[in-house]
Amino acid sequence: MTISRLFIANRGEIAVRIIRAGKAMGIHTIQAYSEGDTEMLAVKLADEAVCVGPAPSRESYLDIKNVVAAAKATNADAVHPGYGFLSESPEFARALEKAGITYVGPSADTIERMGDKVAARQAAEAAGVPVVPGSKGRIATVDQAAKIAGDIGYPVMIKAAAGGGGRGIRIADTEEQLRKLAPQAQAEAEAAFGDGGLYLERSIQAPRHIEVQILGDGTNAIHCYERECSLQRRRQKVWEEAGAVCLDNETREQLCASAVALAKSVNYRGAGTLEYLYDEARNAFYFIEMNTRIQVEHPISEMITGVDLVQEMIRVCDGEPLRLTQADIKPNGHAIEVRINAEDPLMQFLPFPGKVGAMTEPKGEGIRFDHFLYEGYQIPPFYDSLLGKLIAHGTDRADAIAKLRKALNDLRLDGLKTTVPLHKALADDASVQKGAFHTQWLEPWLEAGNLTAATTGGAS
Ligand code: ADP
Ligand code: ADP
Ligand code: MG
Repeated sequence: MTISRLFIANRGEIAVRIIRAGKAMGIHTIQAYSEGDTEMLAVKLADEAVCVGPAPSRESYLDIKNVVAAAKATNADAVHPGYGFLSESPEFARALEKAGITYVGPSADTIERMGDKVAARQAAEAAGVPVVPGSKGRIATVDQAAKIAGDIGYPVMIKAAAGGGGRGIRIADTEEQLRKLAPQAQAEAEAAFGDGGLYLERSIQAPRHIEVQILGDGTNAIHCYERECSLQRRRQKVWEEAGAVCLDNETREQLCASAVALAKSVNYRGAGTLEYLYDEARNAFYFIEMNTRIQVEHPISEMITGVDLVQEMIRVCDGEPLRLTQADIKPNGHAIEVRINAEDPLMQFLPFPGKVGAMTEPKGEGIRFDHFLYEGYQIPPFYDSLLGKLIAHGTDRADAIAKLRKALNDLRLDGLKTTVPLHKALADDASVQKGAFHTQWLEPWLEAGNLTAATTGGAS
């Protein structure tokens, strides 16, 4: 290990998670924080902390100059970007490379290539991995889009090449809609990502979202099996599982092998995720995108494989060869993660950044709660609403659901409105218990009034 001073260029629960890995490895941790985050838990836990700018993330966590200057000023020899913020910015990785600081992630070139969803589709095709039928490259004009959509067949998804976080995606059922929605998608992508480039994909009906966790050292790559993230609202994940109940072992092995082939073909280094849509009726899977970073839902893969993904990504990015082989990765049981957001699910998920009152953490075998809360903490209103992730690991799926339900009941978070009532209702739902859902299941379920003050007993 040559890394001895690790700079954390992120906040919230993932900053706490990275500090925990650093401490376990005997690495000195340096936490970045904005002026809006002086009281955050990671600042208290890290060995050292440094301010990177004002509360708005554009002026702090997203400001490459500020973050790199802070990493240099604190003599950091490595930077962990977490997820979100600068975690998929080739410019950031390049600036660190130039400053002689190790980036805990793949090379800037790999981020650039796989972060562009059109280029990533091409890399997947070149590695023999099936992609959703769609445009070969970016679409240049609305007329060209209409022509390609006619060939693919409606409905089509209009997607931003630089997209992420579920933004910049539209569905068009007809050419008329396509002509109307494409300019909107372009404007949203331009505003959100500074790149209005669009491409088209066939809209898969009622697919399941399945993704494969990868670890690579630049030469070799292994997988840590798959996760299913089909319970989504606005194309954002709400509830995630490892593994995917809908897959038979043969399909699972094919899927995971395709992900390893693709990761190796781009000399992937670090932890990464290849996302796929699975068409259950056809038993077919299609690559949709790669996330070249640690993902929010990585803990469920850790629970079933026993691998500490954050520690392993630090090691390989420090230049060590992978110390695990594929044969070392043996999945055990089933794990579920639910995202606990500071949002009121009974009020259209309105953000509710309050002050944490009395708090009880659920405990017990197989229970993990990754969060950044403490009693008296005022949640800053400037950032996304994820408070933490409650994770339950059981011997099988039914056991994991039972443990999750108990943990949700044990969790006490006074003073906040959270998505806990939603997760309780989902854990009690017959379709969820059977694993009978897909990415378009949760929104109609919510619209049908399955979650109301009456069904949740008005609970917070
Ligand atoms: P992001 O980069 O925003 O995460 P993704 O390409 O991963 O975007 O897609 C996010 C979600 O949108 C998927 O999990 C799925 O629910 C839906 N989606 C994306 N592409 C398609 C498609 N071609 N057909 C059907 N649903 C899709
Ligand atoms: P993952 O791909 O790891 O499952 P997400 O796609 O949910 O995770 O989100 C990764 C990061 O992207 C989050 O940390 C969050 O900051 C950011 N993000 C997700 N959704 C949004 C959104 N709607 N607006 C802004 N940022 C978002
Ligand atoms: Mg995605």
